[in-house]
Amino acid sequence: MAPHAYLLGAARALLDDDELLTPDAAVAVAGRRILWAGPRAELPEVLRGLDEYDLGELTLLPGLIDAHVHLAFDAGPDPAAALAAVDDTVLLKEMTANARRHLAAGVTTVRDLGARSFLDVAVGRATAADPALGARVVPAGAPITVPDGHCWYLGGACADDDAVADRIRLSHDSGVQVVKIMATGGFLTTRTRPGAPQFGAATLRAVTRLAHRLRLPVAAHAHGTEGIRDAVEAGCDTIEHCTWVGDGRLEFDRAVVDRMVEQGTVVCPTVNGNARNPRGRVDWRERREHLRELVEAGVPVIAGTDAGIENIAHGSLVDGLEIMPDFGLTPRQVLRSATAGAALALGLGGTTGRLSGGHDADLIAVGGDPTADLGVLRAPALVVSGGVAVRVPDGVAWPRPVEPDWRA
Ligand SMILES: [Zn+2]
Repeated sequence: MAPHAYLLGAARALLDDDELLTPDAAVAVAGRRILWAGPRAELPEVLRGLDEYDLGELTLLPGLIDAHVHLAFDAGPDPAAALAAVDDTVLLKEMTANARRHLAAGVTTVRDLGARSFLDVAVGRATAADPALGARVVPAGAPITVPDGHCWYLGGACADDDAVADRIRLSHDSGVQVVKIMATGGFLTTRTRPGAPQFGAATLRAVTRLAHRLRLPVAAHAHGTEGIRDAVEAGCDTIEHCTWVGDGRLEFDRAVVDRMVEQGTVVCPTVNGNARNPRGRVDWRERREHLRELVEAGVPVIAGTDAGIENIAHGSLVDGLEIMPDFGLTPRQVLRSATAGAALALGLGGTTGRLSGGHDADLIAVGGDPTADLGVLRAPALVVSGGVAVRVPDGVAWPRPVEPDWRA
């Protein structure tokens, strides 16, 4: 089919990096990309003849980004056991369905931080070729871990530093876009302790040196304070979880936070629907004060849910976004952490996360004002992925077939 060029008009839009919504806005799309976005009155003459779809009172904003998911996990009571029970053919189908669940929820990009057999790379290639199939995937392949270490069953266990380097080269050659390393144990693997480091500082430094030479950022899974410190000092680009687990209690380290600010280290605290649960992994009252201090110090925080782990469904990003103001972010700052801020941290700053000319046409429209109430993001009436509308509001006559079950 020939590329489709069109104009979206809406009562409001969150444009570029603006703090406030722009009233009476328009976004021009050609093929995969945004041609132009701005106040309707400033629409360039040459774009006035495009087919136009009026979204009425809706608010246009960039498609959302969930920076920490596991498409291979099923969000059931025991994701590791469920994973072990299926072969790669079945798993690939399930992962594609999960990428689609994210997209249906308005999440146009996910970073997959751990899957087996490079199936996350495969799903990412499929959704890049057909953006209506599911969210764009930034894949990590199998996380680097130690033998019997956190998530060893995904295939990334390495016995020594040579094996670690081989795994990074294999991942690079297989098409990953980020290297994930399990700097500490985790909650999901029974024999590991979340607070304990899995690698020494020297190994982490070797990992970042090699990955950066291959132009891959490094995401370090780190619950324990010692592992966080080592990962930051080694120059890892994003710290995942950042839970500050010490010896029998939480041990926040302000000196490490200051180092993060100096280096521009980004934290993805994986705030999800479980965060406030009083029976959760850590006490939220204490954790949210740590996150508040982190944010006040100037560490960029990006949104991510760990979707796929127990009880955290694919496409449940908004559950986490609604909790993020608990540590002092305004709704606008939360939105940025799930759009332009996350895009920048994922190496997609020029690609997605903004309604701005030249960016991919990844966008959603919602009723109400998301800069006042994040809850309105829960039911996007319009979802456009790479220029293709996968959900269209009732009453808007879209010329292309929209799959019936995707209609809002
Ligand atoms: Zn994870």
